This record gives sequence, structure tokens and C-alpha cells, in this order.
Amino acid sequence: MDQSQNKYKQYNDYQIIATLGKGQFGLVKLGERNGQRVAIKFFLRNDDNPYTIRMFANEINILKQLDHPNITNMIDFNQAFPYKKQNGKIEQQICIILEYAENGELYEYIARFGKLNPEICRFYFKQLLSVLIYITNKGICHRDLKLDNILLDQQFNLKVADFGLGKVQEAALLKTYCGSQSYMAPEITKNHEYNGNKADIFSAGVILFILYTGSPPFESTFANDSLFQYFENNRQNEFWIKQKRIYQKIPDLITDDFISLINGMLAPNPNQRFTLDQCMQHPWTNGPTATLEQIQNEFRQKKNIVQIQTQHQVNRNIDLQTPIGDFRCSSEQRIQKDYSDIIEKYQLTFANRVLIKSIDIVLTNEFVLYQDPKIIFCQIIKKIMEFQPNEMKIHESKYKINVEISDENLKFSVQILNCDNKMFKVKFINQLGNYIQFKLMISRIRDNLLQMNQ
Ligand code: ADP
Repeated sequence: MDQSQNKYKQYNDYQIIATLGKGQFGLVKLGERNGQRVAIKFFLRNDDNPYTIRMFANEINILKQLDHPNITNMIDFNQAFPYKKQNGKIEQQICIILEYAENGELYEYIARFGKLNPEICRFYFKQLLSVLIYITNKGICHRDLKLDNILLDQQFNLKVADFGLGKVQEAALLKTYCGSQSYMAPEITKNHEYNGNKADIFSAGVILFILYTGSPPFESTFANDSLFQYFENNRQNEFWIKQKRIYQKIPDLITDDFISLINGMLAPNPNQRFTLDQCMQHPWTNGPTATLEQIQNEFRQKKNIVQIQTQHQVNRNIDLQTPIGDFRCSSEQRIQKDYSDIIEKYQLTFANRVLIKSIDIVLTNEFVLYQDPKIIFCQIIKKIMEFQPNEMKIHESKYKINVEISDENLKFSVQILNCDNKMFKVKFINQLGNYIQFKLMISRIRDNLLQMNQ
């Protein structure tokens, strides 16, 4: 075993080589054993918190029943396996070992490059429908379908992940209020009893809309969402007039077939909502569809920008992160007071910079730069100012900025963290608002920083 490998944490006989994402109950890590890569979803034990254990058991029970090419199938699970940390300490962890979706979240591609072309959209929509047909036939519903849970495997096939809220849909209707606000069927937001499979079709309609247009149809299905109210009050026509106006530069986008499919899938009354069969037979679904080869050509070009190649992660231990400590100043300050001084001061060093490249890492909402952190910090402040934030608090000692932009109903924080090898990680955390808007904001800031690096 070489030196660098010693760094990696060990989970049973898997080497843990990177963090893939953060789940509700713990981290999802990339593990490798005999050349096979897997995703290991850890659940923090918290002294056997009964809720965590119940969620863990539920996800396993659901996954045990599933085996489909478009699902991140379960390979194994364990309730008490020794996990050797970097400091040598051994902890017992519970986890689920899943097929690894190497090409990450489809979400990343949409947030960065916008909508997919209709042929590619159809390809993924059909794969999503095939999962829904499969799980529905097994009497199972997902209940947390959203773009974040749509992953891509090595071949760029779609993989539905995260069956943590999955449930066997028995004869009786379900009651548990769950899901994600922007995708949740209205019968759930209204706290009505519901059929989980019908709720999944609603969420799939929201996903399709985002893939096809690059934006969500509405923020939520709550009564205060003016866009959703067009559906709720049977005024879909007005919704589509608005959409046509938004996409007037792409006149062929909002077609009658697309309108009819989305209206059917987003029908607020679950009894009037399209069935999976209707979705499958729909003329829009049966339009021209990309081949896997076309998809691979399209996505491989984009992949390098969206993700660091896995090898890159292996070579660098990107888990290491601490706040940077040499930019000390007073604690919190309103940006209006003195951001210009900061910028002016450090702009002087722009010419001296020696930094040339940047890499993205698989962890969502983070990327790494070889750049003077002071310059990154000031550049981020400058860029955020262009978005006219209502509030912006700078914590200079922590290299952290908290931002609120009311126009976009968005609240997020950005922090610069120290990595090894003189790299600095820029980390964004969404605190409020639409996740797609948040991702777009990250892309804009990132593009700006990358330009600066060239
Ligand atoms: P939670 O159920 O707690 O929300 P998820 O199962 O959604 O956790 O996992 C969190 C994140 O980890 C995902 O959004 C994804 O980025 C990453 N992830 C999860 N499973 C896999 C997998 N099989 N392959 C690659 N990445 C994964």
C-alpha cells in the first residue's frame, strides 16, 4: 500500500476515497474494494437513535425488494461494521452499500448548462417512467422524487436514488407528510391522505418540466404559490401563456403535446392525474428520442466541467477542510460600510497572482481554486454585489459571507476553506429558497472566478 493510500479511511474491507454527498442521516462516501466502486450511505448511530434506526431499516426493506437498471440498487448493508477513521480510532457504523452512480446528479448538469434538448429529455423521462412502473407493480412508492435524487451511472443512464422515504403502498391511503417542497403533490401539502404512486407521478411531472425548460414550474404547491394556483384553480391556460412569454425566444419549446402531458401529470386532483400508462402512451413521450450514444457524446463534453474526474479525487485528500485564519478583522460588518476598501486593498495583488487552474469536485455546491483566498473572497463579494442583495454580512475572520436576495427569495452563505496543496475550497450553503436559483447563483459566481483565473 503506498503512502497516499494510508490516508484513506477504511470501512470493513472498502477503502473510503471521497465524499459523494450529504444525506439527512449522514454522509454518502465513495468506497472501493478490488477495483469495484460503491456508494456507502452512512447513518450516524447517535447511540442508536430509534428514528435513525427506523429510517435505516425502512430503506433496506424497500431496497431489498428492488433490482432495476435505473435504480441505485443495494449491494449490501450492515448494522455494526467497524469503520477505521484516519486517526486510527475504530467506530461502529451502520450503512447501506449501493451501486455507485459515477456521473453524479443530473441536477448538476441542469444547474450549470440549463435545460436538456427535447430528445434527451424524452430519453431520461422514459427511464424515469420505467422505474415508476416497476416500483408501482411491486406496490412501492418513492415519495421523495426530485432532481437531486436522479443520478447518472457510468454510461449516463438514469439512476433513481434515495428510497429513504419509500413505502409499500398498501390498500389504505398514506398519511405521512413528507417529500420536498417544490416537488410535493398538493394532496400531501394539504395533509390529505394520499396514494403514494399518484404523488410520485406529480413529482415526476415537476422533474420533467425542469429537465425540459431548465426551471421549476412553481416554488411549491402551497396555497401561497401564485404559479401553482393556476393549476389549483383550473387556469392552466394562463400559466402556459406566461411560460410562452418567458420562452418566447425558443418558440418551439412549449408545444401543445408538452402542455398536455404536464397538465395531466400536475393535475391537482390525484384522481384526474395521468396514470403511468397515459404518460407512457402520450404523444410527447413518443416523439424523437436520443440514443444512449448521443447522450454520451453530449454529456461527456460537459462532464469535465461539472465534475472532477474520479482519479483526481483519489489523488487529493479533499476531505481536509478548516476555515482560513489570516484575514482577521472585526467580526461581522455590513457590506455597505466597507467592502470597497477591502476590494481596493486586495485588487492591488491581482497582477501578482500565479494561479492558473481550478477544479470542480464531486461534492455538490463546492469547488476548489488555486488562488489567493483574499482575492477569491473579494471577487465573490464584488460579484454578489451585482445581484443587489438586500443583506450581506461579511465574517472576515472566517472568510464567510451570508447573503439574502429578496428578488430571488434566496438566502445562502459562501465560505472559503483551506484544503491541502495550497488549494482553497469555496463552499456554498443554501439556507432558504429555490434550489435551482441557488445553483444558478453558484454557477454565476463560479464562472466569474474561473474567468479571473484565466
Ligand atoms: P438522503 O436520503 O439522506 O437525502 P441520499 O441517498 O439522497 O441521502 O444521498 C445524498 C447524496 O449523496 C445524493 O444527493 C448524491 O449526491 C449522493 N449519492 C447518494 N447515493 C449515491 C450513489 N449511489 N452514487 C453516487 N452518489 C450518491
